Amino acid sequence: MSGGPVRLDSLPTPYFSEPLHVGRPNVGSRDRLMERIDGALERLWFTNDGPLVREFEARVAELTQVRHCVAVSNATTGIQVAAKALGIGPGDEVIVPSFTWVATAHALDWIGAVPVFCELDEETGTADVAHVERLIGPRTRAILDVHVFGRPARIDELTKLAAEHGLHLLFDAAHAFGCTYRSKPIGGFGTAEIFSFQATKFVNSFEGGAIVTDDDALADRLRAMRHQGLNAAHEITGSGTVARMHEISAAMGLTSLESADHFTAINRRNYRLYEQYLDGLPGVRVRPQDPNELSNCQYVVIEVDAVRAGLHRDELQAVLQRHNVLARAYFSPGCHSCEPYRSDLARHAPDPLPKVEALTERVLSLPTGTAVGPEEVRGVCRILRAAVDGSAVPEIHESTEGDAGGRPAR
Ligand SMILES: *Cc1c(COP(=O)(O)O)cnc(C)c1O
Repeated sequence: MSGGPVRLDSLPTPYFSEPLHVGRPNVGSRDRLMERIDGALERLWFTNDGPLVREFEARVAELTQVRHCVAVSNATTGIQVAAKALGIGPGDEVIVPSFTWVATAHALDWIGAVPVFCELDEETGTADVAHVERLIGPRTRAILDVHVFGRPARIDELTKLAAEHGLHLLFDAAHAFGCTYRSKPIGGFGTAEIFSFQATKFVNSFEGGAIVTDDDALADRLRAMRHQGLNAAHEITGSGTVARMHEISAAMGLTSLESADHFTAINRRNYRLYEQYLDGLPGVRVRPQDPNELSNCQYVVIEVDAVRAGLHRDELQAVLQRHNVLARAYFSPGCHSCEPYRSDLARHAPDPLPKVEALTERVLSLPTGTAVGPEEVRGVCRILRAAVDGSAVPEIHESTEGDAGGRPAR
């Protein structure tokens, strides 16, 4: 610990000469990627259930321990296809969290379903199950919860609730590839789960997603629907869209999967460094992962208590921005405060959502991922400490490098 207070204006400005982003893509082996793309070019098989897509699906199914993986062009269309395949359509209500990326709600809105927003559970940041239960009405068809920042939803309670009320249970697992719930991989819960492999997610396929399910009949419908309603025998069996994944995406997805353990190790190291460098800083805490589960640690989210920290999240974000740290207020505002939902709150948010309002004022996502090294994490924390109370970052003695072992991420 070094001597006197560190004043913000004593730091070089900007602290970082290059912008530090929250979500730079993780890139695996370029050679492997290029080999796979070359293979697709040789085969002249670019899309429609190509060998790379099949291999990617098999790998995802294996890793998540589910019977079926249906790769799609992105998670948003994945949610649409999954909901439609379950018969959810215009006027049907689906209970969703407000504290999520707006895609969760927009996907439903786009097919005419009505997202009804629920309150959050403060510990997990996912749906408050008691409030979900209160929102269930005659038009409710499904619950779609989100494993926000890779922290699993209250899966057991939701499973029970959905069964009692005869509702479908879906999970937006866009953040949670490689995470576990009760030591079982995310992917195998509810009726189906939907992953995103968009460029900024933990595993990426440039753009892409997957629906995973243990339901054989549902998987057949999903495969047909993502491909203009065509079945394996090439007959048109019903309504469909184009939600296929193509070979180049699968090439990246497979390559990305090969490096997933490395991505996790880096994320976990960064996460621990943030925890240690920010330890004891008044009004700032790193949102915890569940100590009993594995997490991909793809998101490092701090909560800023404006009273204790002496400045609001927005002010802290502005300070970081001046120093070229492009921290993001994920997720703020809550979905119920975004159009088109806020114009019809009676329909979309019949109850006030004070916990969502409170958390969305406090959260800030910090840069991590393979593009962010220990020195960058330290720099971000120096800026945060200088802005809040002028304290120096603590010295860290123990080595936190290369800890890719089976230890749960905290
Ligand atoms: C990224 C994201 C999505 C959408 O994923 P796309 O593949 O871009 O469609 C959905 N839900 C959440 C929570 C996300 O973060």
